[in-house]
Amino acid sequence: MRYVEIKRLPDGSGRVRVHWIVPDQNGPLLTSTSAVPSDQGIKLTPGIRVRIACLPRQDTFSELTSDNGVKLTLRSDDPRAVTCPECQKTSEYQAARRLIEEINQAASVPEGVNEEAADLASVNKDRG
Ligand SMILES: [Zn+2]
Repeated sequence: MRYVEIKRLPDGSGRVRVHWIVPDQNGPLLTSTSAVPSDQGIKLTPGIRVRIACLPRQDTFSELTSDNGVKLTLRSDDPRAVTCPECQKTSEYQAARRLIEEINQAASVPEGVNEEAADLASVNKDRG
């Protein structure tokens, strides 16, 4: 009988280890081709070359074990989904998290702007 081996975090929380995959033209891994719906119908996106941030030489996402099991490397290209502490320590990962934080801050409306917009709208309505 086959089994699947998935690594958990060493912190005892029971959470699984999700690595971060980084686009890299010379990366040892190729993501799979996927079909994505678009305005022009189904669009095929080709796989891209990547590497695992903390295991840059690993060249497979899954491997057979000697006793007929399968070892899976769980991974994500979204830094917010990553749980692997070693991936999180890389400078590239930390730069990606800072970028997400900047985008989130830029997307939020500064305090007071909504009140100014409401005042402006009421002035324009009075001119009406
Ligand atoms: Zn990792």
